[in-house]
Amino acid sequence: NEELLINSEKLYVAGQLAAGIAHEIRNPLTSLKGFLQLIMSGKNTNQNIQDIMKSELNRIESIVSEMLMLSKPQVYELNIKDTRQIMKDTVTLLEAQAILYDIELEAEYDEEALWIYGVENQIKQVFINVIKNAIEAMMDGGKIKIRCFLEGHEVKVQIRDQGPGINKEMLSKMGQPFYTTKDKGTGLGLMISYKIVDNHQGRIEANSEIGIGTTLIIALPYTEGGEIKV
Ligand code: ADP
Ligand code: MG
Repeated sequence: NEELLINSEKLYVAGQLAAGIAHEIRNPLTSLKGFLQLIMSGKNTNQNIQDIMKSELNRIESIVSEMLMLSKPQVYELNIKDTRQIMKDTVTLLEAQAILYDIELEAEYDEEALWIYGVENQIKQVFINVIKNAIEAMMDGGKIKIRCFLEGHEVKVQIRDQGPGINKEMLSKMGQPFYTTKDKGTGLGLMISYKIVDNHQGRIEANSEIGIGTTLIIALPYTEGGEIKV
């Protein structure tokens, strides 16, 4: 099982992404080259050029760091963990950033432990990615409601924001590699999250209503806490 997880991870990095990455890096590189030529020709009259060049460089940097994080040899330790604890750690991690944007993170948890079997760091990465998106969607501040609960045989983590919401077409593009609507976005966060959740035999549902907000539900198989299989 562990081997499977590692192999599929490697496979998707190599196969699905290589072409996409090259493409995504070539675009800002081409524009950087163009700007540099303009500067060297001495014909540059645009004062904004440095800013644009800097943001293109930042974009390349973000893409490369995210790719590095993926390819870094990680310890894929599979454990039974309480989802509530993983979420509490995540909220602690993101609270400062939320406050900065005038956003309150409100989390509600079931009384009983929400056991899941998986790689804790990866699950935490998923929670971080989704909550960060929620924060980035709420430019005017507000509240992000997080709920962790058991439903049937699934542990569900619901993250509801008060952002502008998105239409069906955009909703269907979410999670596609490099789909981003942000200046400094990479469009990799959700793709990685979908892949991780899929590797854990879970699924992610997304709903959105224009003017109301967006809700993501991460569903993972509930695992009996006492039943540790090695
Ligand atoms: P990034 O955040 O780098 O753009 P993601 O894969 O995390 O990449 O997200 C892809 C896109 O999905 C975002 O650029 C945004 O358009 C859309 N999106 C994701 N989450 C939300 C949300 N909570 N509200 C509105 N749009 C969202
Ligand atoms: Mg993101």
